[in-house]
Amino acid sequence: MKMETKVKTFDCKHFINGEYVASKSGKTFENLNPATEELLGTVCEGGKEEIDRAVKAARKALNGPWKKIKQNERIAILRRIGDIILERKDELARLESLDTGKPYWLASSVDIPRAAYNFHFFADYLRGIGTEAYQMDDDAINYSIRRPVGVVGLINPWNLPLLLLTWKLAPCLAAGNTAVIKPAELTPLTATVLGEICRDAGVPDGVVNIVHGFGPNSAGAALTEHPDVDAISFTGETTTGKVIMASAAKTLKKLSYELGGKNPNIIFADSDLDEVIETTIKSSFINQGEVCLCGSRIYVERPIYDQFLEKFVAKTKELKIGDPFDPQTKIGALISKEHYERVNGYLDLAKEEGGQFLTGGKRPEGLKKGYYLEPTIIVGLDRSCQVVQEEIFGPVVTVIPFDSEEEVIMQANDTHYGLSATIWTNNLRRAHRVAAQIEAGIIWVNTWFLRDLRTPFGGMKQSGIGREGGMHSFEFYSELSNICIKL
Ligand code: NAD
Repeated sequence: MKMETKVKTFDCKHFINGEYVASKSGKTFENLNPATEELLGTVCEGGKEEIDRAVKAARKALNGPWKKIKQNERIAILRRIGDIILERKDELARLESLDTGKPYWLASSVDIPRAAYNFHFFADYLRGIGTEAYQMDDDAINYSIRRPVGVVGLINPWNLPLLLLTWKLAPCLAAGNTAVIKPAELTPLTATVLGEICRDAGVPDGVVNIVHGFGPNSAGAALTEHPDVDAISFTGETTTGKVIMASAAKTLKKLSYELGGKNPNIIFADSDLDEVIETTIKSSFINQGEVCLCGSRIYVERPIYDQFLEKFVAKTKELKIGDPFDPQTKIGALISKEHYERVNGYLDLAKEEGGQFLTGGKRPEGLKKGYYLEPTIIVGLDRSCQVVQEEIFGPVVTVIPFDSEEEVIMQANDTHYGLSATIWTNNLRRAHRVAAQIEAGIIWVNTWFLRDLRTPFGGMKQSGIGREGGMHSFEFYSELSNICIKL
């Protein structure tokens, strides 16, 4: 059966206290399909009023039904959310693809299964969590107890909408908190469906609330300013993170930040070139390069520089761009007109800065509608160029040759970001030596995007504050109290 890729209009309401509701103001905004520029539906625009209702519902549920539920039942509910996401995988993948412009196969094989796994993983992880105890000779014993932080605001970006939302929501609920979610305004669809999924899984009313809207002077700002929100977990741009920090400071909220990146992909001459090319195609262009972990700065050791470029350019030219619902499509549409223009602005800048385009740099021929851009490889830029320094968040990479380990480490660290890095080498000692000197929170050697959810995930420098994953997520989403008993 051929998949229905045309849209029956999907209007998004808020999900507050277990019910879908419109904004009191009646305000809505339009949601467009970036691949066709067609209207997907309208979205209720929330503000102070809706955030306030959602926070009140979340507070009531925190101290009411959610608190009373025993850990075993909480685990069962989380697992059921994961199960229902899998049962509804095709529908969710279709919505994710319509909303973001990403290939359907990608949403169906990565975004949605991983969203389900986020719940399964944190449900299982919860069962094994303990706390610390320290004895002070025969004088006293200390032990700590863990409790939820409270009402947590979860603010999300548009690039991996359900995957990243659930990466926050699952540990947030596992640790006993209640949540007010602000999805990205560009991608409200799967977040809206998640409300219903949580309800069907047995999540009590008020535990999960979803308020749509924008950032400044809208739902996002109202959430970060709200005096009864205890913590904010934010994933998005570094500049937005700075604004949120200033706003959250007024009520001293606990903050977790997953921000932007400009990640180096370092390729030494002794690496297996075919493997490098295969993975570098993905780490450069998957999801149209709209992944915070994409390796957008490629450094290649001089002896294989020409050979690398020849193969990399040839493979890039083979990538099929276009209809996200065509299974052959490797590159879909960028998220919005505004973002498309922003990325194109960087291409203009690259030309001004003296860059040469080995492929890409333009709209693919024959695609009249949609925010499509050919995957682009740029050489000839100096490390101080803006295009090499700033996050573009599109299918654009720069390639720069290097002559020594010291030089490439210096170049890799020469940015205010520090999210991830990839190192390609078959020299074991060098792998350890270089990895330890790269300023990034996540470092892969001879691979990319290989994730074990128990490991610390997050950035250093201006790429983030704190870590998510396994115990690190629980540290953020819980408060510890130490109890000292004199014996
Ligand atoms: P963005 O910062 O523009 O928006 C993210 C969210 O913040 C949206 O929901 C938006 O409405 C909200 N927001 C904006 N201004 C706000 C304000 N003043 N107060 C409260 N909320 C506000 O980011 P984006 O364009 O949606 O996402 C792309 C960025 O996210 C890139 O920089 C990318 O690197 C980063 N990102 C990082 C990670 C990571 O794990 N480190 C993962 C994915 C994306």
